[in-house]
Amino acid sequence: MSELAGILDGTATAKAIRLEIAAEVKQLVATGAQPPHLAAVLIGDDPASHTYVGMKQKACTWVGMQSSIHRLPASCTQEEAINLVKGLNNDPSITGILVQHPLPSHLHEPAVLDCVSIPKDVDGISRGSLGGLINGEPAFASCTPAGIIELLDRYKITIQGRRAVVVGRSIILGKPVAMMLLNRNATVSICHSRTANLAEEILRADIVVAAVGRAELITGEMVKPGAVVIDAGYNRVEGRAKDVGDVEYESARARASWITPVPGGVGPMTIAMLLKNTLRAAQGKFS
Ligand code: NAP
Repeated sequence: MSELAGILDGTATAKAIRLEIAAEVKQLVATGAQPPHLAAVLIGDDPASHTYVGMKQKACTWVGMQSSIHRLPASCTQEEAINLVKGLNNDPSITGILVQHPLPSHLHEPAVLDCVSIPKDVDGISRGSLGGLINGEPAFASCTPAGIIELLDRYKITIQGRRAVVVGRSIILGKPVAMMLLNRNATVSICHSRTANLAEEILRADIVVAAVGRAELITGEMVKPGAVVIDAGYNRVEGRAKDVGDVEYESARARASWITPVPGGVGPMTIAMLLKNTLRAAQGKFS
């Protein structure tokens, strides 16, 4: 009988990281410095965006950081959005800026994100920060991809020299995580909706990162025995009590050596990385 994969517990790992951050914030404040301050820009009425910003604020409070929300109506102009971000860049009391996306469709999202100054771009998704990831210049790593790498590191999973397959090529997830794996000397392939034989590609991987948004697209039989499976997907399926990932968990767990659950794998790591980046910004350090 084959052994089941070990679980990469994002909830426990994120909690450990938060405790470390809280201790560092306390030390920083003991030197007479202001606590780090995360400013969230919230444009429009998207309920999910409101929930996410609320979760991020709560996390800031938990680790002893300050946070604030800077709101604009959904009808705001590009100029108003840009001016708000520029004002936060110029405010020395603000350590890090998060522009909650998606923005209303009439705004040019990349142009607004690009206004966040790189030393304050703790979400790491402006084109300047993503450029830094590619050319090795200082910039904060985007949070979900960084959370994936941190989870691998905390479980002492070797990245260097291994064959990694990332399924999904979005600018916020698939592409940056592929670049981070490459920067850590994995041999990386990126798959997408036009990949000719997805199963064949995945079967070659020592590390699989699923970043697709299609419920249980990746089944156990596509997983190489002993592979590490990271599932960033989060999918609501009608008739199912729980959200599911992009990976069919039970069948993949029977083949893999390590696997992330959904929920409780990649998800909790994202906010932990946002806090870490905000702390590093306050310390004047890029990660
Ligand atoms: P996205 O922008 O929709 O990108 C999805 C990617 O998957 C695209 O590159 C697409 O290929 C590819 N794809 C779609 N169908 C495919 C198929 N049948 N076979 C192979 N590739 C396929 O999604 P995203 O924003 O990256 O998010 C992906 C998932 O991660 C979602 O479930 C999302 O909820 C989750 N997520 C979680 C977190 C977190 O945990 N904190 C953060 C972000 C996202 P093409 O490029 O060819 O269209």
